[in-house]
Amino acid sequence: MKYISTRNSSKEFNFSEVFMKGLATDGGLFVPKTKPRLSNEELLRFSKLNYQDLAKEIIFLFCNETVNKKELSNIIDKSYSKFSEKSVVKINAIGKNEILELFHGPTLAFKDIAMQFIGHLFDHHLKNIEKKINVVVATSGDTGSAAIDAIRGKDKMNIFVLHPNNKVSSIQRKLMTTVKDKNVFNIAIEGNFDDCQNLVKNMFADHQFSSSINLSGVNSINWARIVAQTVYYFFSYFQTCQLNEKINFSVPTGNFGDVYAGYLSKKMGLPIGKLIVATNQNDILHRAISKGQYKAHSVLETLSPSMDIQVASNFERLIYDVNDCNANKTNKIMQGIKNEKEYLIEEKELRKIKEDFISESISEQELLSCIKKTYENHKMIIDPHTAVGLGALEKINLTDKSIVLSTAHPCKFPEAIKKAINIKSELPEKLNYILNEKENFDVINNDIAEVKKYMLNKLN
Ligand SMILES: *Cc1c(COP(=O)(O)O)cnc(C)c1O
Repeated sequence: MKYISTRNSSKEFNFSEVFMKGLATDGGLFVPKTKPRLSNEELLRFSKLNYQDLAKEIIFLFCNETVNKKELSNIIDKSYSKFSEKSVVKINAIGKNEILELFHGPTLAFKDIAMQFIGHLFDHHLKNIEKKINVVVATSGDTGSAAIDAIRGKDKMNIFVLHPNNKVSSIQRKLMTTVKDKNVFNIAIEGNFDDCQNLVKNMFADHQFSSSINLSGVNSINWARIVAQTVYYFFSYFQTCQLNEKINFSVPTGNFGDVYAGYLSKKMGLPIGKLIVATNQNDILHRAISKGQYKAHSVLETLSPSMDIQVASNFERLIYDVNDCNANKTNKIMQGIKNEKEYLIEEKELRKIKEDFISESISEQELLSCIKKTYENHKMIIDPHTAVGLGALEKINLTDKSIVLSTAHPCKFPEAIKKAINIKSELPEKLNYILNEKENFDVINNDIAEVKKYMLNKLN
């Protein structure tokens, strides 16, 4: 399978290049030249596999040119060995719908599913390389800890994590800052998540800087993450549906990575009805999908901080798709967004988007009452992000069965859970130690020069 940039289709890349680069040098995102399409026979065969074996089949479709099946099989087995659920994910019925728990990895959020895979994929690619890799990542809370857990202690890698100072939950922060490995560096930026993301983008755009320290990224634009995330759409479908039955997925959304993986699954032939793009009050994607207005407002702090984002990077992949996979046109649109700070989606493209997506935005009050109602009616404590997904589904009121992606363990957000149901959501015992551990992080201004200087200092 060959890949191209969403902004330039003339140059082709293979999976390993796409994985190691993360972002194309023209600023575009990598996409496969054509998406694989599964036959009914293949779907039937896949439906009988356990999670790990299914992952091996699906991911192989995307990397078969540069990673062989045996190597991939090893990578996947190692990636999911630290999960507390044998089948990686867990599915619970809630009325006629299902809750898909994706948070049984080491840092209790769905990001572990892709990040553990990426960590071992790095090991595989660095085997024969001398020079160290420096990973830099911006986080609104969960990406950071998931990336740190995946990369800590590796001798050919360092990881720098930028989080917005005082804007992640205390548990989220402690999961990142109590890690002691010498290759882990936490930076608290005086700004919001979009500022952190911009700093990272700027670092990559500075080719002299990025190549001098062998900079690499693991943010949700990395194609390898998207691919790893398609697996649970397939798995949960097979566990809950008869083949050919249609089901919707409700996906709490920030950077459009997770829900794009659902879209990719649908394009590969999985019988998905609608993908519900569920946002909190940072509703740029809801405005884009319901009204065609893709325009960033300023970021609001909410009870679901991992989705406190205005610029949804992965949305570019959808823009590319609905514009007939025309990279020239996508490039123009992206330049337009950069200059005008706005993209008005034309009717033809919007109609295409609405064939696959429906959106809703959830207020803080709706979020709290969703947690409360779910606890009262089902004795289930859901985290605030999951509540955005479930709340949006209930607001839209679709008749078909749906699966709600449950993206984090409620104990990561004790403040929100307490507010909703006045219960203290306890950490799993094996993580209790982080509460009393010393934290290591440095606070730095939202200033690219200062951040670069800090990094170079640490590397010398
Ligand atoms: C990152 C995150 C999301 C949003 O996922 P995207 O791929 O950015 O849309 C939702 N919930 C939780 C708990 C997260 O950590």
